[in-house]
Amino acid sequence: MRTIAIIGASLAGLRSAQALRQQGFDGRLVIIGDEVHLPYDRPPLSKDFLLGKVEAVPLADQEDLDALNAEWRLNNRATALLSSGEVALADGTTVEADGVVIATGGVPRTIPNTRVLRTLDDAINLREAFANAQHVGVIGAGFIGAEIASSARALGKDVTVVEALPTPLTRVLGAEMGAACGQLHGDHGSTLITGVNVDSVNVDGGINLADGRRVDADVVVAGIGMRPATDWLAGGPVKVGNGVVCDAGGVTNLKNIVAVGDVANCAGHRAEHWTSATEQAQVATRNLLAGETVATHTNGGYVWSDQYGVRIQFIGRATDDVRLEDGSIEDRKFVATYRDSQNEEDIVGIVAMSNARLFTRLRRNLKQVV
Ligand SMILES: Cc1cc2nc3c(=O)[nH]c(=O)nc-3n(C[C@H](O)[C@H](O)[C@H](O)COP(=O)(O)OP(=O)(O)OC[C@H]3O[C@@H](n4cnc5c(N)ncnc54)[C@H](O)[C@@H]3O)c2cc1C
Repeated sequence: MRTIAIIGASLAGLRSAQALRQQGFDGRLVIIGDEVHLPYDRPPLSKDFLLGKVEAVPLADQEDLDALNAEWRLNNRATALLSSGEVALADGTTVEADGVVIATGGVPRTIPNTRVLRTLDDAINLREAFANAQHVGVIGAGFIGAEIASSARALGKDVTVVEALPTPLTRVLGAEMGAACGQLHGDHGSTLITGVNVDSVNVDGGINLADGRRVDADVVVAGIGMRPATDWLAGGPVKVGNGVVCDAGGVTNLKNIVAVGDVANCAGHRAEHWTSATEQAQVATRNLLAGETVATHTNGGYVWSDQYGVRIQFIGRATDDVRLEDGSIEDRKFVATYRDSQNEEDIVGIVAMSNARLFTRLRRNLKQVV
C-alpha cells in the first residue's frame, strides 16, 4: 500500500495513524478531519473542562504528531467515498488511496432549543452558557448527561435531569445498577425526574414534559445519545447499518477499508467508548496492512464515567443475575458481577463504583469478550 487515507481526525483516527507507523507503514498517510482542531481528548470535556480545571487536552504532543509524517487536511469534510479508494472532500479535491480507515465517530442526537456536548467547540459554548445560568436542565441520564449534571452541580447550579426510562442506564447496566447510578444525582442535590418524555424545550430554556409538568432551566443540554457519522458514505461501496458494517476485526465488505471507533459496527456490536476506539485502531490497521482479518477485537467494551466524585466502571454485558461481590450500594463503593444465565459460574460483566482495584482484579475472570 502506498497511500492510506484516514477519515476522522480524533481518537480512533489518530491511534490508527500511530498504529500504522508502528507496524512499519512508510507510505503516504492523509488524515482528514472536519474539525479545525488537532486531535484532542473528549472525556475531559464533560468533566474537568466544564469545571474550568483544564483546557483542551491534546491526544499527542507536537513531536509525536511530527513523527507521524502525515498530511493533515483539517477543517475539511469527506463528502463521499467515490470508489473503494477515492475520497471526495468538501473543498472540491479528492484523495486517491489504496487503503481507507473510517473513523468518523458520531453525531449527537438533538432536540430544538437544547445544546449538545460532543466537540471541543460544544464544550467551549457550554462552559460560557453555564457561566450565565443558575438552573441547568439535562435531558438524558446516560453517562454523558450524568457527567454534565455532575459538573453543573459542582459549579453550584441548580440541576434537573430528565430521563425517559424509569431507571437511568438500564440498557447498559440493568435496572438495579442503573438505579444505583441514578441515586448519585439526589445524593448531591440534583433533581432526577424519570419515566417521562420531553415534549419540547422553549427558546428561553424551560422544558415541557409530556405529562404537563414544566421544568425551569436557563440552559438545557441534551445527552440523548448519538448516531454514527455515516451520512457521507450513503450510496457508496461500503456497507452501512447502525454504523459501518464490519467484521470482528474492523474489516468492511471491502478488504482495503476498515472502520474504527464509535462509527464501527463490528460483528453486530458498536461500542461508544474510549478504550474500544484505541484498541480497535491497533487491530483494524493490522488487518488493513495484512489484506485480510488476522486479528479480532478483545476489548470487552470497557467504559468508565466520573460523576459526583465517584468513578463508575463497567465491562462486558449486563444480565439479570447481578451479584454484589464487595462493598455496598448505599456507600456508593462496591463491585458487582453479572452472571451468565446458562452458567452462573461465568462472569460476563462487571460494574464498580469507586473500587478500581477489585474491578481490575475481577476483570481477569471475565468470561465473555466483545
Ligand atoms: C463529552 C464526552 C465525554 C466522554 N467521556 C468518556 C468517558 O469518560 N469514558 C469513555 O470510555 N468514553 C467517553 N467518551 C467516549 C469517547 O470519547 C469516544 O468513544 C471516542 O471519542 C470515540 O473516538 P472516535 O475517534 O471513534 O470518534 P470521535 O471522537 O467522535 O471522532 C470522530 C471525528 O471525525 C470527524 N468527522 C466526522 N465526519 C467526518 C467527515 N465526513 N469527514 C471528516 N471528518 C469527520 C468528527 O468531527 C470527529 O472529529 C466521551 C465522549 C464525549 C463526547
